[in-house]
Amino acid sequence: MSQGISVDRRSVLRAVLSGVAISPIVCHRSGALADEKAPASGGADEPKRTILRRPLGKTGIELPVVSMGCMNSFDAALVKRSYEIGMRHFDTAAGYGDGRNEEMLGQAIQELDARDQVVIATKVHLPRRPAEMETEEARRFFLTTADESLRRLRTDYIDLLYAHSMYGAADLQHPGILAALRELKESKKVRHIGFSTHRGMAECLAEAARMGFYEVVLTTFNVAFADDGAMLGALTRAASAGIGLVAMKTQCSYRSRRSFPPDVRERLRGQLMQTALLKWVLNNPAITTAVPGYTDFAQMEEDFSVAHGLEYTEEEREFLVRRGVRHAAAFCVQCGKCESACPRGVAIPELMRVHMYVMAYGNERHAQATLDRIPKDRGLSRCVDCGECRVVCRRAVPIARRIGDLRAVYALV
Ligand code: SF4
Ligand code: SF4
Repeated sequence: MSQGISVDRRSVLRAVLSGVAISPIVCHRSGALADEKAPASGGADEPKRTILRRPLGKTGIELPVVSMGCMNSFDAALVKRSYEIGMRHFDTAAGYGDGRNEEMLGQAIQELDARDQVVIATKVHLPRRPAEMETEEARRFFLTTADESLRRLRTDYIDLLYAHSMYGAADLQHPGILAALRELKESKKVRHIGFSTHRGMAECLAEAARMGFYEVVLTTFNVAFADDGAMLGALTRAASAGIGLVAMKTQCSYRSRRSFPPDVRERLRGQLMQTALLKWVLNNPAITTAVPGYTDFAQMEEDFSVAHGLEYTEEEREFLVRRGVRHAAAFCVQCGKCESACPRGVAIPELMRVHMYVMAYGNERHAQATLDRIPKDRGLSRCVDCGECRVVCRRAVPIARRIGDLRAVYALV
């Protein structure tokens, strides 16, 4: 069944257009978050170009505006080359590849002999939603996982440690998480504490600003939020409160990866302009840096080129104003508004993330891990024999088609 597209495209277009028009000026006028330029530190044969850097909240850390999201790559050579061209911040998680991603990163940084030159961020993901875990159980899991991360990363301190995947204020206030993060910071195993969020982001950011406990937030943010006043306001207020903001999922997820099935590649051919998407995010002065998840050297170069200047080219501007609207409309912002429309209570937002991980990132392990976290009575198997999906996303996410993709991938048809 085809899904109705009820998203107000004109309002999205207006918002994207206004972002394109005003962002460089906003950035230029910003005081505390104004870009500072520092020479690139590439090899002797590298042309010297400036790299835009920004302070990370009140941490005292300053970072290039483009960093490496390591999740989808297990290639140490990519980390090393990223460092050589000027990247200084590497984002991983204990759960990526069951720890193998951390091991790869730790080995690469050790072989570069660059531990004191880089900022390593990792995450602890509780095995169940925080509300389902007792204080002591969550605290112990957190501390044990952080120690395992230290070992895998071959270091005695983690620069940024995130509580992984927070959904709202209640998660952020979980006493087990708070106790563990406090202990890790006091013992100097962790320099700065924060959380990651890809659902309920605006609420999480507002609560973080209110609490004054978390120093850094890794949040989903991309052009799909161009018309989301609550999110844009929450980012500004969190940055004003001194919280360092790192953006993820900046590329609207559906990057043209070699892992895409041919029909998906064909559908996306020429539609995505990675530099435009990344510049749009970084032209928001609240964001310190972004962690695009590139997986090869060409993507790395393309992404890092943005760190040399955020001015849009004519082509990028045209992309954002016209074709970018379609991608903004098709990105699942995890608002959860579709859940009540499914008679079986299927966890549609989570399944949309699974789809992104397996189809867009080509990261089967992470997709499977996300699938495994969905309670059985709300998982993919619940909607196998439903017939036609009547759930419609107001943002035009093609829910039925993506669930169909997942059924095929997981051989449920
Ligand atoms: S599919 Fe649409 S309605 Fe459902 S969570 Fe994603 S953006 Fe929201
Ligand atoms: S196909 Fe799945 S998600 Fe859609 S209405 Fe049926 S059970 Fe719900």
